[in-house]
Amino acid sequence: MNFIEKIEEIRKISRNAKKENLKVGFVPTMGALHDGHLSLIRKAKKISDIVIVSIFVNPKQFAAHEDLDKYPRTLDDDVKMSNESGADFIFYPNPLDIYPVGYSTSINVGGISENFEGEFRPQFFGGVATVCAKLFIIVEPDVVVFGQKDYQQCLVIKQLIKDLHLPIEFVMEATIRESDGLAKSSRNRYLTEEDRKKSSILFLAMEEARKAISKGEDKRKTINAIMHKKLREVPEIKIDYASVALAEDLSQPEIFLKGDTIVLLLAVYLNKTRLIDNSILTI
Ligand code: AMP
Repeated sequence: MNFIEKIEEIRKISRNAKKENLKVGFVPTMGALHDGHLSLIRKAKKISDIVIVSIFVNPKQFAAHEDLDKYPRTLDDDVKMSNESGADFIFYPNPLDIYPVGYSTSINVGGISENFEGEFRPQFFGGVATVCAKLFIIVEPDVVVFGQKDYQQCLVIKQLIKDLHLPIEFVMEATIRESDGLAKSSRNRYLTEEDRKKSSILFLAMEEARKAISKGEDKRKTINAIMHKKLREVPEIKIDYASVALAEDLSQPEIFLKGDTIVLLLAVYLNKTRLIDNSILTI
């Protein structure tokens, strides 16, 4: 049986593996798994000896008005797909074990978590950092695999690992997309058929910016304006941000220099569904 609900049990499994000199890989998820998650599991399998996948819809990273209650839950499929992709154990903790009554410690990663997602979802990175720190302490992985799809989250988790001296290697895997460019996401299930067709505009907006950059455009405001203009072709879109930043620390100089690695960052509502995406390139 590789479906584990108890904290002590998953910890024991990880510690026993390490006693046998096995490398423990860990992929935290909120379930509703798709090819993006599975590519992380496959990567973890390649670089470690046993792979633990957690499925936990973390209430702390949702604001009161957000979609915690209707977040898709597809546990049976998740277990099957994880196993087929190489997961050795599924950790499916009870929310009351992770956040028992009286729980009162939070982790806040400053700096990198303040802009972009941090500005529009102020509770988000605190919730993510807290649950990841807890899961890392429970699972004691040697290596964790996260998706570039949530690029700022990758930077936050890297900072968390560094600041807390956690002996964990961090690996980021590329974003898996649909054939029209839409980044795969558990939340894509919310899109109506009509909105699904329009949702490729995020990818197209980043492609426009890439094209301009490859022709020599180096001004931050102009690159941002190119993405905004493209996104506005879909009137049902409301932009939270469509911005370019330095990939290393998300700082936003007015002009980018040859050799800079930059990231295009998008977050929009398409009607009621919030979509995020990003693209990294070197000038
Ligand atoms: P989530 O279940 O949305 O919390 O995501 C769990 C992990 O899967 C995170 O590291 C995400 O960045 C990653 N992920 C989500 N979507 C994709 C995707 N389309 N491609 C690659 N990784 C992804």
